[in-house]
Amino acid sequence: MILVVAVLFGLVVGSFLNVVIHRVPLRQSIVWPSSRCPHCEAPIKSFDNVPLLSYLLLRGKCRNCGARISPRYPLVEGLTGLLFGIAAYRYGLSLELVSALILIGVLVALAGTDLEYRLLPNAIVFPATVVGLVLSVALEPSRWWVYLISTVGVAGALFALAIARPGGMGMGDVKMGGMLGAFLGLYALLAVFLGAALGAIIAGVLMATGRMQRRTALPFGVFLAVAGVLVSFVGPQIWGTYSELFVAMIGEV
Ligand SMILES: [Zn+2]
Repeated sequence: MILVVAVLFGLVVGSFLNVVIHRVPLRQSIVWPSSRCPHCEAPIKSFDNVPLLSYLLLRGKCRNCGARISPRYPLVEGLTGLLFGIAAYRYGLSLELVSALILIGVLVALAGTDLEYRLLPNAIVFPATVVGLVLSVALEPSRWWVYLISTVGVAGALFALAIARPGGMGMGDVKMGGMLGAFLGLYALLAVFLGAALGAIIAGVLMATGRMQRRTALPFGVFLAVAGVLVSFVGPQIWGTYSELFVAMIGEV
């Protein structure tokens, strides 16, 4: 039951995240005006604004002008619904779930703005960092300092990397890394490591297939978002497997 509620809630949140992705980087209000067709500017009626369902019923076209609606909208809705469902399965009804859902929503929004505008807006990252710290400290009051150190430490480490290799990471990635520290504590380091590995693999594939030049910068925030979601679900398990492998390798030597 809670799974169904979580997925439906995720679809609605995903619909809101579409507005955030589209408007926050342009510094537009996310409440006003109501959603419009980007082509003909006709306001979208509430019965045409049902997540996933409306897109299917309208067959991906605006009811007023027939312009194609980007598949990004149902994709963001469906992805958020799916991830909310997995989080509910993983955490059950708990404060951990609240923290996980907020982190997922923020990461979907940041992946979207990074893909669409190459931006990780402060208007999303800063409030998220504060909320993440408050929730983490509420969950583990005795380890409040771990989350504070992780926030400052991960941002600091990425800042050093950004300075050492200009053109790679941006300040947006630095701040996003700190935000992950607020939610995930030391596991944020694992997320950064996984994100970088994922980025390197994708870049390798794109270059091997000739679809990317060596100098093209990939939106690192997207990989950081994917890794952040993964670590929030199975961070300890990934770390456990990794350290076992490491110990096994040392044993071989
Ligand atoms: Zn239209």
